[in-house]
Amino acid sequence: MKITEHLASSNKTLFSFEILPPLKGQSLKDLMKGIEPLMEFKPPFVDVTYHREEYIYKKHPNGLLERISTKKRPGTVGICAAIMNQFKIDAVPHLLCGGFTKEETENALIDLNFIGVENVLALRGDAPKTEGRFVAEEGGHHYASELVKQIVQMNNGKYLHEETEPAFHTDFCVGVAGYPEKHFEAPSMKFDLKYLKEKVNQGAEYIVTQMFFDNAKYFKFVEDVRAAGIDVPIIPGIKPISTINQITMLPRTFFLDLPDALMDELEKCKTNQEVKEVGIEWAITQSKELIAANVPSLHFYTMSKAHSTYKIAEAVF
Ligand code: FAD
Repeated sequence: MKITEHLASSNKTLFSFEILPPLKGQSLKDLMKGIEPLMEFKPPFVDVTYHREEYIYKKHPNGLLERISTKKRPGTVGICAAIMNQFKIDAVPHLLCGGFTKEETENALIDLNFIGVENVLALRGDAPKTEGRFVAEEGGHHYASELVKQIVQMNNGKYLHEETEPAFHTDFCVGVAGYPEKHFEAPSMKFDLKYLKEKVNQGAEYIVTQMFFDNAKYFKFVEDVRAAGIDVPIIPGIKPISTINQITMLPRTFFLDLPDALMDELEKCKTNQEVKEVGIEWAITQSKELIAANVPSLHFYTMSKAHSTYKIAEAVF
C-alpha cells in the first residue's frame, strides 16, 4: 500500500521508523530480532536507509596510496524484501542520486517493483566522507528533484531508452526529505523551500523531516512550507538521543540545534545510560505534543536500536 494511502486511512497519528542495514559481515537475523518488539505498535511502514560506497586508501609497499571504494552497509533491497515477507508491512527503501547513473536507477526501480515495493524515499545523498562536496555520477542526477522526475516518468511508462510503450507501469509513491532547520548547503530557508517545492512539483507525495529536538522548529517549518504552496503531508522525524557522543555528533553531522532545556539535562549525565534516559523523556514530551497537533506519523530514527523507540511508543501510543 502507498504511504499516502496509509496516512489517509487513519485519523490518528501513525507510528513508523527507520533502520540502517547492518555493517557488512553482520547478520540480518539480529536486525530483524531487534526490531520485532516495535511491531507491537503496528507500524504500517518501515524505512530502510541506503548507503553509498565510501573510499578507503590502501598503502602499497612502494608508498603509493590506492583508492578503493567499498560499501559498508549493503543490503537495502534485501532487507526491504525480508521486512515485507516477515512482518507483512510496507518497506520504504531510500534511493539516492549519488553513486547511480540514470540507467542504474531505472534498473534498481525495476528490482524494487519486482519484489513488491510500492514506495521510495528519493534523496540526493551526501559526498563520501573523504570528499568535500557532492558530485553526481556521470549520467546521474544532481538533485533529488531530478530523481523524483525519473521515478514519476517511469510510473508514466517512460523508460530511458525504450521507444515502445511498456506493457506494464510501475506505480511508486515517492517521498522526499525536508529540513526544519534548513539543509546545510542552502543559503537560506526560502532558497531551500523553493527546491522542496520543486521536488513536490515533480511528483513527490509526502515529506519526511530531518530530526529536530525543538517542536517549535517543526511547527514553523510546516507553516513556511504551507505558505510556499506545498500541501503534501509532512512527517516529523524523531531521534531519541542515546549516547554521550551523540550530544556533539548530531548537531555537527545534521546541522541542528539542541535546545537549552535539553542541554541542561544532558550536561548532568555521566554515562550513556543516563543520556539514554534523558533522550527517552525528551522524545516522549516531543511526541505527545506532536500527536496532540495530529501530525501524520511519528517517524523514529532508531539507528537499528529499538529500545528507546519502544519505550517512547509505549508511553505515547
Ligand atoms: P536535495 O533536495 O537535492 O537538496 C540538496 C541541496 O541542494 C539543498 O541545499 C537544496 O536547497 C539544494 N537544491 C536542490 N535543488 C537545487 C537546484 N536545482 N539548484 C540549486 N540548489 C538546489 N542520506 C543517505 O546517504 N542515505 C539515506 O538513506 C538517507 N536518508 C535520509 C532520510 C531523511 C528523512 C533525510 C532528511 C535525509 C536522509 N539522508 C540520507 C541525507 C540526505 O541524503 C542529505 O541530507 C543530502 O545532503 C540532501 O539530500 P536531499 O534529498 O534533501 O537533497
